[in-house]
Amino acid sequence: MKHRPQDPLALDIASLCQNAETLTGTWPLISMKRLGADLTAADDGARPAGAHPLVTWRVQGSLRPLRGGGDQCVIEVSADARVVLRCQRCLTPMAWPLTVERRYAFVGSEDEAAEVDPDNDDEDVLVLARRFDLRELIEDELILALPIVPRHDVCPQPLAQVVFDDEVADPPAPHPFAALAALRKRGGEGDADG
Ligand SMILES: [Zn+2]
Repeated sequence: MKHRPQDPLALDIASLCQNAETLTGTWPLISMKRLGADLTAADDGARPAGAHPLVTWRVQGSLRPLRGGGDQCVIEVSADARVVLRCQRCLTPMAWPLTVERRYAFVGSEDEAAEVDPDNDDEDVLVLARRFDLRELIEDELILALPIVPRHDVCPQPLAQVVFDDEVADPPAPHPFAALAALRKRGGEGDADG
């Protein structure tokens, strides 16, 4: 039987799992629009012209016997990307390796998905669709893997003086009660006349 090659942007999960197939490939990072929007700000001048960072990915399908009979589709997904983030301490661009490794089990419907034990941290449950966009899934996972506050372990050089001098970049946080007191005082004065 002739086997048609899989399109990772419209994966046939059932076939992937039945055939225990493994697919691998790369995508340019810029093809991930949502992730790219987060990263372009930090990326200016940080890498040589013409060098487009890539996302390297792998997906492996398998069937797992269900307790009540039948089989369940399971995929193991992994992806790596080297992105450029801006260090929140010294504000210089920094290369940051992103790695994702996750297992997904497929069920037939949203109702079935709701019945699955939500405390299982080892895998996520997805509803089986005819066409599955692997890139979208991997982009979601890469976004989740981004650090909330990216920072060098050790910044490359003494922090630039401009960071300290520039109050706009890092204004001292006003004390919340001080602001409230100021508001109150102003309000009190205004009301006194009326
Ligand atoms: Zn730094």
